[in-house]
Amino acid sequence: TTKPLTDIEIANEATMKPIVEIAEKAGIPLDAVEQYGRFKAKIDTSKVVGDANAKVILVTAISPTPAGEGKSTVTVGLADALYQLDKSVMVALREPSLGPVMGVKGGATGGGYAQVLPMEQINLHFNGDFHAITTANNALSALIDNHLHQGNVLNIDPRRIIWKRVLDLNDRALRHVTVGLGGPLQGVPREDGFDITVASEIMAIFCLATSIQDLKERLKRILIGYTYDRQPVTVGDLQVEGALTLILKEALNPNLVQTIEGTPALIHGGPFANIAHGCNSIIATQTARKLADIVITEAGFGSDLGAEKFLNIKAREAGFKPSAVVIVATIRALKMHGGVAKTELVAQNVEALRVGIANLAQHVANVRNFGLEPVIALNRFITDTEAEIAFVLEWAQANEVRIARTNVWEEGGKGGIELAKQVLEVIEQPNDFHQLYELQETVEQKLTKIVQQVYGGAGVILTDAAKKQLTTIEKNGWDNLPICMAKTQYSLSDQPSLLGRPTDFVVTIREIIPKLGAGFLVCLTGDIMTMPGLPKQPAALRMDVAEDGSAVGLF
Ligand code: ADP
Repeated sequence: TTKPLTDIEIANEATMKPIVEIAEKAGIPLDAVEQYGRFKAKIDTSKVVGDANAKVILVTAISPTPAGEGKSTVTVGLADALYQLDKSVMVALREPSLGPVMGVKGGATGGGYAQVLPMEQINLHFNGDFHAITTANNALSALIDNHLHQGNVLNIDPRRIIWKRVLDLNDRALRHVTVGLGGPLQGVPREDGFDITVASEIMAIFCLATSIQDLKERLKRILIGYTYDRQPVTVGDLQVEGALTLILKEALNPNLVQTIEGTPALIHGGPFANIAHGCNSIIATQTARKLADIVITEAGFGSDLGAEKFLNIKAREAGFKPSAVVIVATIRALKMHGGVAKTELVAQNVEALRVGIANLAQHVANVRNFGLEPVIALNRFITDTEAEIAFVLEWAQANEVRIARTNVWEEGGKGGIELAKQVLEVIEQPNDFHQLYELQETVEQKLTKIVQQVYGGAGVILTDAAKKQLTTIEKNGWDNLPICMAKTQYSLSDQPSLLGRPTDFVVTIREIIPKLGAGFLVCLTGDIMTMPGLPKQPAALRMDVAEDGSAVGLF
């Protein structure tokens, strides 16, 4: 047998259509298409008319394991399948972060024959959006430090500045830094730190803004720290929201690309789902909803993270109701949830599957708690055995949940036809979608609902530090914001080692950070990091440029 082609090899072999052709097919007026080379474009959304009324299909997954689930792969493959069925469809995906690309994960453009193109450019520096977001973030840092240096009229306490610098890399050495060293001419010394760009509040704002005006309003509300007498200081106080908006102006237009099969895709914005809200931009989703009848979008990690925030935060902000939710599961990952080591995954093990499938059960329950009916996409790996597949299909039947086998990695859209047909049935039926909590509930009530109804846990406790922060939040009237949980993706609980479907656990909230521009309260659990580190064998070690100039090892 020959070795299967890698994602980058398949991507490099594919023939792309000129992006203007894709735009035309998507119904985008040509004067809205700003070309970035032949195969990428930004779309001037002011020139895309019509109502945003397409049905939205959200793709989520079981709790991720190192075995990989293939959520982006299924998202792209499902769109291609619907396209093959002559449906008017568009994909709305998140942009990859360079941190994980160079680290363990690799890219975020799908895989096999279900990919978006040009894969290499989407994974690296895609149309400069992350550059713009990083620059806006760091411009604010520079303006804050300059304000301190120039006399500090606002009386900002340098020890209580919460705004950090960012960089779109995994760089643990920058988590804690001291700035302003070197004497009076070099600024005011203070402790600072770096987050990864995808954790920046600017990224969250970028993804939740509904217009350039709304973007500016949100930037203005960003809380950067407190004065010596503990009064909040915002970007509006510094009067720099205009400059930050200007830096982001071009980037705010969504990026048009194509799948291997020529389905139009908008890729725009990319906050992480374990530390931010984990969804692509509202502007891209709504633009796609104006253009197509069906929009397929994805939210990061499992349904406990990206999907919970998609449904409780993004759908609320954008004011739409999703029509269906796809839960991607693999037999490999379910076996890991049943206790099998990564090295033992090839061997058939129905017993482990029987244990691990409890993880899938919780994700099914989560989707139903929102009043939506899920379809499980069983993403086929060549190592799956007939007995294992039969077990999962029977489990689904016994639990009365829809399931479709998908083979889009190997076959492209053709391998997703069964899933597409099931999804088409679901979106024709009415659903009872509702958010899990109302904004006016207390922070503890909102947290408890998330932990009990989405994680399957017993409840929450707040550390003393978090309680103190909550008092400040309530005093300032910020407690009516939605919750953005920062939690490990590996477990439904706040402890990464608890795989499967843990029960009776209590989630500890160690910090509550008001993100007033994004409009949510970030609740930190466990030892979740806002600046990741690189693993011992980073993906970067395999990367190269071949003699003909093509990319190697993007995996
Ligand atoms: P996620 O979105 O869940 O992180 P991706 O769709 O990015 O996952 O896929 C991660 C990796 O797994 C990609 O390199 C992809 O090619 C690979 N992959 C996905 N599905 C399959 C499959 N069915 N068989 C083999 N490899 C797959």
